[in-house]
Formats: sequence, structure tokens, C-alpha cells
Amino acid sequence: MMLGLLLARAGIAVTLLEKHADFLRDFRGDTVHPSTLEVLRDTGLLESFLALPHREEQQLMVQFADGMLAFADFRGLRPFPFLVFVPQWDFLELLAGAARRYPHYTLLMRAEAETLIQEDGRVVGVRADTADGPLEVRADLVVGTDGRHSTLRAAAGLQPRQFGAPMDVLWFRISRRRSDPDQTFGIAGRGQMMALINRNDYWQAGFIIPKGSGDARRRRPIMDFQAEIARVAPFLSGRTGEIRSWQDVSLLSVGVDRLERWHLPGLLLIGDAAHVMSPVGGVGINLAVQDAVAAANIVGPVLCDGKIPDERLLACVQRRRMLPTRIVQGIQRLMQRNILERVLSQEGPPPPAPAAMRFLFSFRFVRRIPARVFGLGFRRERVRLPAAPVVNQSVQ
Ligand SMILES: Cc1cc2nc3c(=O)[nH]c(=O)nc-3n(C[C@H](O)[C@H](O)[C@H](O)COP(=O)(O)OP(=O)(O)OC[C@H]3O[C@@H](n4cnc5c(N)ncnc54)[C@H](O)[C@@H]3O)c2cc1C
Repeated sequence: MMLGLLLARAGIAVTLLEKHADFLRDFRGDTVHPSTLEVLRDTGLLESFLALPHREEQQLMVQFADGMLAFADFRGLRPFPFLVFVPQWDFLELLAGAARRYPHYTLLMRAEAETLIQEDGRVVGVRADTADGPLEVRADLVVGTDGRHSTLRAAAGLQPRQFGAPMDVLWFRISRRRSDPDQTFGIAGRGQMMALINRNDYWQAGFIIPKGSGDARRRRPIMDFQAEIARVAPFLSGRTGEIRSWQDVSLLSVGVDRLERWHLPGLLLIGDAAHVMSPVGGVGINLAVQDAVAAANIVGPVLCDGKIPDERLLACVQRRRMLPTRIVQGIQRLMQRNILERVLSQEGPPPPAPAAMRFLFSFRFVRRIPARVFGLGFRRERVRLPAAPVVNQSVQ
């Protein structure tokens, strides 16, 4: 969505295919970090973005048996000393609305890319299944932004290196009461953890469980899960009955992987299609946006000149984004191994915060480190492709 907007804004004809009929899906996280806020400011969309229903959090907290612990503090970051939680469908609608202003931008919903069209060793388009039947889109550049189960990366024969993850997530909603905590926060448990995103009248909950244990759980009666929620978050115990059956709970598989090569002649892969991110740090959306900005900055000028970007240029996008991706995935894997794996293999009642952890995170400069690492990331991208309402090229 971000790449489509940036290219259309520069005058390049863009056709974007989205397999779903709308953006009303809950599964992809809500965290918009300061790095993305900077991009929104560059594109003149910050004000409209901050007018969406959202929450700004200056600190991220985890609740232990002996009280809350702040582990990330955004207050020192400039110019955005906070993290924004916004339902992703609102964010995507905002980007789509901004892009639709350009007559050379086409967003096709219920259009599922199925395979690549290749001619003379080059990708020249995609074949898609749409509500109106089969569709062929020809393009000077095809960009695969189709996420963790990317059809285009499989069609290109590109195999990612798998790094694995120790957890999966059960995702559901539960009502929120005035007497509940106000902030979005995590709850530490033994054998499971929970993240609660405050969406005003309800909590969007992520219940973190050991990898592969979801199916066995879902074979048990829903009452067992209701009791488990009440054990981890006692303040929710009077309303776990709102989760009436397993149909109210989605099982989200977590993984981490990365392609060694993000391109072929005529094809570029970015975002999760090139590197699947773990939810740790709530950073995957933001990394995908950074990839989009880098891609627009690098291939945009060539497309504006009416030329076809060669593979050398596509390799420049990968070279620019590979290091930040490696670093963030490395940190995610470290946290998965040293914190999540240990916590998820334990049993018993919710634990108190380890004394060393409580001591360490009592220092503000320590709490600033995760805020800086995940909030700003590494090699921050700024929009350099200028806005120009001229139609030049076609891109999918
Ligand atoms: C449980 C969980 C929680 C997470 N929480 C967060 C979080 O809070 N914050 C955060 O920043 N990251 C989070 N992440 C990571 C984040 O979801 C991804 O890194 C991010 O969504 C990647 O963005 P993307 O645009 O590359 O792919 P996606 O967001 O997956 O978007 C891909 C799009 O392509 C569409 N599509 C797929 N196949 C096709 C096709 N064949 N044809 C047409 N369209 C297609 C999909 O419908 C989708 O709209 C989480 C991940 C998991 C698993």
C-alpha cells in the first residue's frame, strides 16, 4: 500500500491487487512506530493519520505477579516520543484513500495473484483470479508484497531460510470495562503470555502459547481456554464467557524467515514476502513500510524516466534493506530464544519480575534502548521520490 501510494504520487501508473474484499482483518498488528510516523509526515499524511481513532503510548509495560514493569520508554525519542496503536484496516484505508486520488492508481480488491508471467527470462506481469474472472496484468516491474505465505515468491522459485519461532498466538476479542487498566500491556505467565491492546470498548488479545500447541488446545472444550485466560488475567474472569466457541479465536502461526535473494529480472519482493517477521517488538509492519520507501526511492526515478528498472537496481533495494532486516530479526530471535522459549517451557502461576530485570529497567536509559531499537530501527528511510502528477509507467 505504501509503495503503491509513493509511486502513484510520483506519477507512475500502479495496479495493486488485494485478494481480500476489504481490509477488515485483525491479524496483522496495530503498532505504528516513530519510523513510520516520519514517513507519514514526509507524505503529508500525518495529520489525517493522527485523526484516526488511535492510542499513543509513551511506555510499554508488562504485568508480573508483583506489579507492572515498564520495559520500553519512548519519551526520549524525537520528534515522536510515543508509539501509536491503530487498527490496521483504518491505516490501510487511509493509504488507499490517499492513493485513489491519482487517476493512474488502480486498487483491485478480491484480485488474487496466482502466478507470474515470464517472457525471455524476465517477469513481465501476473495472472490473477478476480471476482470478474481471470485477469492478466502486464507491468514493467512486479513487486511481491503478498506477505508471509507469498504466492509470488513461491512462483519465482525463491526459497527462504527458515529460522523458526518458539510460539504461536491465539487471537481474540474480549470486552473492556472502565475499571480495567488504561494502557496496552503484556502479562507474563508460565507456559503462556498475553498481550492486551486497548481498543476502547474491547481488548484485542494475543494469547502466546508454545509453538504447535494450538491444535491440541482447540480440541479441548472452550471452557478450558476460558479458565486459562482467567488464570493469566484474573480481571477478565467475569467475561471469558464472551468467547463462546473456538470460532471466536484465531490461531496465528508465528515464524521468522528470510530470502537470500529478493529479486529476479522484472520482480522485486519486499516486506514479509522477502523476510517474515516475528511479532516481537511489533515491528514487522514498520519494516515493510521502510522497504517500500527504499524501493520507491531507488526504482521510482527510473520508472519516472520511462525506463524499466534492471536487476542491478533491484539488487540495490535488497542491499539497502538487508542489514536492517538482519539486525532486527537477530534481536527478535535472541528475545525468542532467551525469554519466550524459557517462559513458555515453564509451568505454574504467573511469576514475579526477576529482581535483576526490575533493577535494570528501573533506569530510564535502559528502557530507552528497546524504544530506540524498535521505534526508530536501523538505517531509517525518508521519502525522497518527489510528488509529480505525471503518468509514465505501469507497476503491479
Ligand atoms: C501474530 C502476529 C502479530 C503481529 N503483530 C505485529 C504488530 O503488532 N506490529 C507489527 O509491526 N508487526 C506485527 N506482526 C508482523 C506483521 O504482521 C508483518 O511483518 C507485516 O504485516 C508485513 O507486512 P506486509 O505488507 O509485508 O504483509 P501483510 O501485512 O501480510 O500483507 C500482505 C497482503 O497481501 C495480500 N495477499 C496475500 N496473498 C495475495 C495474493 N496472492 N494476491 C493478492 N493479494 C494477496 C494479503 O491479503 C495482505 O493484505 C505480527 C505478526 C504476527 C504473526
